[in-house]
Amino acid sequence: MHELSLCVQILNIVMAALPEDHPEQISIIRIAVGELAGVDADVLRYSFPIAARQTRAEMARLEITIVTGMAECLSCGQKVRIKSRSQACPLCGTFNYVILQGEELRVRSAE
Ligand SMILES: [Zn+2]
Repeated sequence: MHELSLCVQILNIVMAALPEDHPEQISIIRIAVGELAGVDADVLRYSFPIAARQTRAEMARLEITIVTGMAECLSCGQKVRIKSRSQACPLCGTFNYVILQGEELRVRSAE
């Protein structure tokens, strides 16, 4: 399962950022997921407790911020909302655009 291995990666990033002797449980992990990242946030939420089992993040809540997909269209020169990479520019119908945001998956913070 793709999302489960992503959860493991998220946990690895969080753990690596903590001091090694950090004794406390992690209570919250905040991540940002782009609409175009190809990740299902619901599956991520569901997978997280499985990945976090028997780690210091076992009791942690996963807080997910969705980053809107935005692109700049090179044909019509407009900034447009893109919900998937198979979607054409909603203004001119071409695929001649560059993604500005929405492809990311990153850890924002943890407590
Ligand atoms: Zn366009």
